[in-house]
Amino acid sequence: MSRPSLLMPGPMARSVNNALDDHFTVHRLYELVDREAELAELAPEIRAVAVSGFRVDPALIDRLPKLEIIASFGVGYDNIDARYAGSKGIVVTNTPDVLTEEVADTALGLLLMTARELGAAERYLRAGRWLEGAYPLSATLRDRSVGIVGLGRIGKAIARRLEAFGLPVAYHNRRPQDDVHHRYYPDLIEMARNVDTLISVLPGGASTDKLIGRAVLDALGPRGILINIGRGSVVDEAELIAALTEKRIHAAGLDVFEKEPQVPAQLIALDNAVLLPHVGSASVYTRDAMGQRVVDNLMAWRDGRPPVSPVVETPFHGWTARG
Ligand code: NDP
Repeated sequence: MSRPSLLMPGPMARSVNNALDDHFTVHRLYELVDREAELAELAPEIRAVAVSGFRVDPALIDRLPKLEIIASFGVGYDNIDARYAGSKGIVVTNTPDVLTEEVADTALGLLLMTARELGAAERYLRAGRWLEGAYPLSATLRDRSVGIVGLGRIGKAIARRLEAFGLPVAYHNRRPQDDVHHRYYPDLIEMARNVDTLISVLPGGASTDKLIGRAVLDALGPRGILINIGRGSVVDEAELIAALTEKRIHAAGLDVFEKEPQVPAQLIALDNAVLLPHVGSASVYTRDAMGQRVVDNLMAWRDGRPPVSPVVETPFHGWTARG
């Protein structure tokens, strides 16, 4: 069987690289010296793209007339214009499910670190300050109620953990979910008013851009804790910094940021913010599983089988060669 040409615009996990080299002719754009000229030469033969966070916009899609599949590493794909790809008959795939439990574990770790100040307490010990006296008392999860915004695969895995912790859970999505018993709020501000801990697991994109701004933070109030494990674009970072600085909310725990890997200096300076460098799914085990899913989607396309996980904007109706 001939090896289809695959474009890899940016670096990807080693597990993906090794497997793809066995079955595809992989063109690693980021390794080429004159990328523009090389892409112009390669473009007519590219039939598949594999990406991890790299932006795939209509301009790139239009340059690849034979493109049939964009296989993305990760469950969020706000870096890809999937609607446009779908309009051209191109299938976009992502890697849901295999990272769900890992990200939910991270969310709970971040929540505990934020409420109980575990990171700060550890830094206190390492700085030799325990000898001066005990670390100050922190807030707790014990008297809290949690609102999850974005109760999908990961949100539900977080909710299961919170129930085991004995905490009441409510949620806000655009539509109520059939398979949960938690209280549903059709209005996010109303939910923020009625809980004191808000966990965002929302995807990025236009419909969620800066959804959590001043109104939501003020509704959460001075006891409020915000955890964001979804996408940085969902939170108005300037408003969050103001709310944390003015103590209009108690604390925030963030795994994602507006302009990653840039994190504003004002946020880094704040004691009441716990900041992680987007490590939600970042274990060897889970990243290997995500890499395998990328490979499985691409191999399904190569062999003419349905993709394992196409995104909703590009439902699978059969492969049709383009170009
Ligand atoms: P799902 O699609 O299963 O869940 C997303 C949920 O968000 C859905 O229930 C959806 O419900 C809700 N939602 C979407 N848009 C809106 C909106 N505008 N207003 C209110 N609710 C909305 O995705 P996953 O749980 O698998 O993943 C969620 C996100 O988590 C990913 O898109 C990704 O961005 C992020 N993520 C972050 C990671 C990290 O390392 N920090 C790792 C993995 C994922 P409805 O359609 O009814 O509104």
